[in-house]
Amino acid sequence: MSAEKEPRVVVVTGGSRGLGAGIVEAFLADGDRVATCSRSITPAVEAWQSAAPDRFLFEPADLARPEDAKRFIDAVIERWGRVDVLVNNAGVARDGILGMTSDEDLDTVIDLNIKGTLYVTRLVSRRMLARRSGSIVNISSIVGLSGYRGLSVYSATKAALDGLTRALARELGSRGITVNSVAPGYLRTEMSHGLDEDQLQQIVRRTPAGRLGDPADIARVVQFLTDPVNSYLTGQVIVVDGGLTA
Ligand code: NAP
Repeated sequence: MSAEKEPRVVVVTGGSRGLGAGIVEAFLADGDRVATCSRSITPAVEAWQSAAPDRFLFEPADLARPEDAKRFIDAVIERWGRVDVLVNNAGVARDGILGMTSDEDLDTVIDLNIKGTLYVTRLVSRRMLARRSGSIVNISSIVGLSGYRGLSVYSATKAALDGLTRALARELGSRGITVNSVAPGYLRTEMSHGLDEDQLQQIVRRTPAGRLGDPADIARVVQFLTDPVNSYLTGQVIVVDGGLTA
């Protein structure tokens, strides 16, 4: 961290584990103030609470509920007064062919991935508009671009996030706010536990980089996109998949 750098206020949804935790870690390591939320607390959250109590905030929240989204963002504003960076990372997947998908699974995926993202972004973008600055990254997925058998609902929600990115970039661009998507390939997190070892090995074989992604691979790109020097980069979907969809 350079001595002159002003710490930013960074909100990462779903940062208790997996990719979100990697993104929290990267911004904390860069000296920023980071707030995150999830439904349950994890050892990673407890570790940040004790290692960086003045620069880390955790709020339990189910983002499928608008009142929880509001409580989370209110807590951030009360603590630090603004949000400079929003990373919409919290997401959920349910496997299965569409014809057999229950109402409950449909709602779970849509309520968090689309509505939860909209609840948080609505609250944060309002404040960014007033300050005429900010940066938003939506974590979508390569399956929103290319699809994946058995993940139709999830793929639809991820494609929706890329649509949101493009529309919001237009809506907020003249106020100095950038909006981009990062579309990761396959990462080793709890979410990819739905894939069996054979499927994972097949993905690795087809990936030019010859491996699955790490949260740190994605976190570095999120940091690049949210760096104020990259203010001319907006409205884009950046694929980070080791070349899988090249
Ligand atoms: P993960 O390991 O399952 O972590 C998901 C995070 O979101 C957790 O912190 C979880 O905590 C939180 N979360 C889940 N439901 C929530 C809710 N209703 N309200 C608030 N927080 C909630 O998933 P991941 O693999 O890190 O995925 C992170 C993002 O990357 C997702 O948007 C996913 O679609 C995307 N992505 C993942 C992959 C991959 O291969 N893993 C590939 C492409 C894109 P709680 O469960 O305690 O709430």
